[in-house]
Amino acid sequence: MSEILPQSRRPRIAIAGLGDTGLLVALDLHPEFEVVAIAPKPALVSGQELGGRLADPDAWRRRYLTAYSRYRRLDGMRIVHGLIDAVDLEARRLAIRGIDGREEALDYDVLVVASGVRNGFWRDAALEDREAVERRIDADAERLARAATIAVVGGGASAASAASNLKERHPGAAVHLFFSREAPLPEHPPKVGRAIAARLAAQGVGLHPGHRARVPEGFAGERITSDPVEWETGQPVFRADAVVWAIGREQPNTAFLPPAILDAAGFVCVDPQLRVPGFANVFAVGDVAASDPRRSSARNGGAGIVAHNIRRLLAGDDARMKPYVPPAHRWGSVLGPQRDGLRVFTPSGASVRIPPWLVDHVLYPLIVERGMYKGVRPEAPNTPKRSQKLPGLR
Ligand SMILES: Cc1cc2nc3c(=O)[nH]c(=O)nc-3n(C[C@H](O)[C@H](O)[C@H](O)COP(=O)(O)OP(=O)(O)OC[C@H]3O[C@@H](n4cnc5c(N)ncnc54)[C@H](O)[C@@H]3O)c2cc1C
Repeated sequence: MSEILPQSRRPRIAIAGLGDTGLLVALDLHPEFEVVAIAPKPALVSGQELGGRLADPDAWRRRYLTAYSRYRRLDGMRIVHGLIDAVDLEARRLAIRGIDGREEALDYDVLVVASGVRNGFWRDAALEDREAVERRIDADAERLARAATIAVVGGGASAASAASNLKERHPGAAVHLFFSREAPLPEHPPKVGRAIAARLAAQGVGLHPGHRARVPEGFAGERITSDPVEWETGQPVFRADAVVWAIGREQPNTAFLPPAILDAAGFVCVDPQLRVPGFANVFAVGDVAASDPRRSSARNGGAGIVAHNIRRLLAGDDARMKPYVPPAHRWGSVLGPQRDGLRVFTPSGASVRIPPWLVDHVLYPLIVERGMYKGVRPEAPNTPKRSQKLPGLR
């Protein structure tokens, strides 16, 4: 253990990626340890609630786009606004390229890989300033607000959420959801798929089961398109003003890691303690970690397990590390907060509806901001009201 825990100084924990899970690890371990996080954006750009982001970007921003400086618990923690280009796991050193173009070598004692995945046009690893992040969010929402016909391709939670929220926001638009199976949400218990399909139909979303799109060569759904969509399943082409691709082609952000620690699809191999085999001081968590077939550690407390296990490691007490135990089915909210509240599905497929007043006055301010994020400062008063620029948004 003395190999990992330096006697002469506080151990330094480097967090590669400060997204939904990296942030929770940082909030848990700072200031107890010297934590340095590397983040390509200056804010948390959450991967959650695609539908809200496309349909009502201002409401989405209030909960899912948060400057790191607003997290009270991060005060005093070093955040390098940059990208990791390479890691030397033997030497315990990161090669980082900052947003200003400068290169830096950073030594660490413990590394947490939380670099997530690129997934369609709304999650990426581009090194960007706040303006660039905001511009893209607005451009996508504006494009969809102008569309008379919208096609959403995909059968998972992101696709269902996009179709539902876009129809809710733009009732005059024809919104169609195309998916390859008989019902959407194959990773959830079947009754969740049926419940969401019923809700979409009641909203007036056109449901098209049995449609598998022909994805153009070299295209991974990384932008909204307007070309006619062809189907491998033989149906006539479909023309829409805007096609949202949410086809689940997740590409792990692992180019900076040695291939020896990756599985065949490029995700980081981990043991039940979310540790990389062969490297006692390297952990991986979130969408990048091959913890189970659904790589579900982000939404199931993986960040807390990694923080706990790092504490045990640094105390020389590996025996009391906790394992990550994935649930059998995906759970959580699918559509995000709606006018009638937030419907949350359990792993068994049951659901509870949290009324809007409880979402606005208890869930977000107390449970999420105060509890999970340990205090979030209000947005600076001069932050522009961006939706005023968006034509077609109410
Ligand atoms: C508390 C919680 C609740 C959730 N609830 C739901 C839910 O109800 N419904 C649902 O659908 N999903 C939910 N999710 C899951 C969510 O959609 C994703 O699983 C989650 O966003 C993945 O987080 P991540 O940290 O792995 O990846 P990201 O949030 O994508 O973070 C990865 C970060 O690493 C950065 N990065 C990439 N490459 C590098 C590099 N070379 N150097 C440095 N940084 C890099 C990326 O740019 C990004 O900022 C939830 C997640 C959490 C944490």
